Amino acid sequence: MRLVSGMDVLWRGAGSSQVGSDPRCAVVLEGLSGAEQQLIEALAGSPSRQDLRRRGAASGVSSARVDRLVELLTRAGVVTEPPSVDGRTAHGGSPSLRPAGDGTTGDAQWRERAGLAGAAGLAGAAGIAGAAGAVDALASAVVGVTGLGRTGALTAAGLAAAGVGTLLLSDPSPVLSTDVLPYRSTDVGRPRESRVAEDLRSAAPLLRFGAPAGTWPDLVVVTTSRVSDPPLLRRLTQEDVPHLVVVVGELATTVGPLVVPGRGPCARCLDLARARSERAWPAVATQLRVLPEQAEPYTQASWAAGTAVRAALELLRAPGGRPALTGASVELDLDGAELRREWPVHPDCGCTGPEPTRGSGVTG
Ligand SMILES: [Zn+2]
Repeated sequence: MRLVSGMDVLWRGAGSSQVGSDPRCAVVLEGLSGAEQQLIEALAGSPSRQDLRRRGAASGVSSARVDRLVELLTRAGVVTEPPSVDGRTAHGGSPSLRPAGDGTTGDAQWRERAGLAGAAGLAGAAGIAGAAGAVDALASAVVGVTGLGRTGALTAAGLAAAGVGTLLLSDPSPVLSTDVLPYRSTDVGRPRESRVAEDLRSAAPLLRFGAPAGTWPDLVVVTTSRVSDPPLLRRLTQEDVPHLVVVVGELATTVGPLVVPGRGPCARCLDLARARSERAWPAVATQLRVLPEQAEPYTQASWAAGTAVRAALELLRAPGGRPALTGASVELDLDGAELRREWPVHPDCGCTGPEPTRGSGVTG
């Protein structure tokens, strides 16, 4: 068994130990003996259940008591363990467990922790069988990442770190000097997709970069410069493949909408809306498409990648849900505030059936 990645065991006082430090997700065990506190600390070494029972026996802690402590920590989500082979159920005992903060333990934090545990499993040898089902969903997920400038490369790394099992990378264009970090200066001129794959393969040996013929991706993150790529996005919509539109612009990178075909507006809906408010937009967009790629400040790229990864995980963990970026896009304004726009289904697009439209414009 092991502690969820990033969590430490802390000594609070006699009889009281804490796992994790952030009050939103840390938990406190109280009513412990000194030997039990040492057992909790031993979890940092990822012992097996048998190891822990042996340690307990040597210091006068019964197996039942060891099981009870492990059960409490597992139920709290701070310890993961492969399923029990003996079916033993823990029982009795006085240790109690409570959140370290004000008790408002956030589900999102737990899910994120579960994702981190999954990533540790990917990079390690054995994987973590006890992590949440959401992690299994990520391990079996197939995600395409098209466009591997700074934002796309950081997005691919973020998806791998979260535990996505298969990445289909697409961008044969050469690494530019403005891509350095996350790329290295020695990568300049080499194909982006092979450089990203090599780096991620060494960091996460179990990550796959291909899928059997006929596999449909669960999601494609499409990052383009200045304007979107209508032919590619239209094809994804027609083939019912969910996709996240990311556009690196002059002043800001826009993340969204997350297009789930049939469930909200597509990229063409946005283009039609823009053409209606800006008559020259189709002509302007055509010219923008052939300009050199827009360089991105690192802070902008890392924000966009983080936002894209979060949106992707939301969809992958709950494929039937309605992720926050369905019908919406978000960007950082010049003052560093997030600017969210809601987009309606355009009546002339025909990409979806009737959908309650929520009006276009900045809402926050
Ligand atoms: Zn549409």
